[in-house]
Amino acid sequence: MSYTVTLIPGDGIGPEVADAAARCIEATGVKITWETALAGQSALDTVGSLLPGQTLDSIRKNKVCLKGPITTPIGKGFRSVNVAIRLELDLYACLRPAKSFQGVRSLYKDIDLVVVRENSEDLYAGIEFEEGKPETAGLIRRIQQLSKKNIRPDAGLSIKPISKFASERIVRFAFEYALANKRAKVTAVTKANIMKFTDGLFLSVAREVAEKYEGRVAFEEALVDNMCMQLVQKPHNYDVLVLPNLYGDILSDLCAGLIGGLGIAPGANIGDNIAVFEAVHGSAPKYAGRNKVNPTAMISSGILMLRHLKEIKAANALETALASVLAEGTSVTYDLKPRRDDPSAVGTKEMADAVIAKIKR
Ligand code: NAD
Repeated sequence: MSYTVTLIPGDGIGPEVADAAARCIEATGVKITWETALAGQSALDTVGSLLPGQTLDSIRKNKVCLKGPITTPIGKGFRSVNVAIRLELDLYACLRPAKSFQGVRSLYKDIDLVVVRENSEDLYAGIEFEEGKPETAGLIRRIQQLSKKNIRPDAGLSIKPISKFASERIVRFAFEYALANKRAKVTAVTKANIMKFTDGLFLSVAREVAEKYEGRVAFEEALVDNMCMQLVQKPHNYDVLVLPNLYGDILSDLCAGLIGGLGIAPGANIGDNIAVFEAVHGSAPKYAGRNKVNPTAMISSGILMLRHLKEIKAANALETALASVLAEGTSVTYDLKPRRDDPSAVGTKEMADAVIAKIKR
């Protein structure tokens, strides 16, 4: 079978890691035609838009996309293009597996966690009111009337919507993922004791969904602050975690840290018909164009993509080849060496070449 897949090279280190991943995927023998599309700074410079309509159209048409990281300036300026892609295409489930590889130095061995993050609402919905604006003052007055709580007049506001609909579909996604991948337990992580009408709603919906899977997948609840401590102290006690958007973002970086850092951690944004695969890490601008950074996270995102396409043999072959290169520790990038200035470290491209050389077709 052959596929047409949208390829967004992205910004910063994006083009280098996206190229490494695309070459590794091709080397499995799966026939893919890449339809290159722009997003982010590169799109702004070339066609004058951060997220051109053609890029969204290409993803909608092909239904599968491999995406490099995109730069988002902090504070002022445009909102995240990544968030815009997820919202535009309703990619409501963010899947971030955190699995240890032998040979990657990390605090723990044999970690095998999966973070399922709700991707469409919560504080990421982008509903914000700037400090000092008349509409913000109006909203503050209205909230004070309704809640009888005081808000300082010089406050900015970010709105946290959490709905039954979105909570139900993400928790169901987590349970279905657990069933399909023979995972034993789903833990719903919230701050339901404090935010009763948002996190509390997410949790009560999670309990209802969990009942439908009773006897097949275990369910447990955790508070997000306690969960951070538990993951640092006893990460092996956990399996699939399902979380509202912001906690999911934070905990997936924590889980990436448990397996050796951002250079390793893959991700996928999945909707009912469309899926976009991307590393957890960002565009690391200071390393752009230096053929230096680790392509593992992007290659692993490609492995998730192959599994999504049901190309299981190819996915397994690529995973085995990648694991072998990591375990040998010879043809790996600087961050995987015992010392970061190790002169035997190879570049992004050369590490991908080493993986390709080990793929058994
Ligand atoms: P970052 O992940 O880009 O980089 C932080 C540090 O992590 C780097 O300086 C580097 O030391 C290390 N690192 C990241 N990727 C690596 C790799 N493949 N190999 C080795 N080391 C690696 O995070 P940041 O600096 O906070 O963000 C930079 C930009 O990326 C920002 O504009 C941010 O908004 C954006 N971003 C994009 C995405 C995305 O496109 N999905 C995700 C996160 C951040």
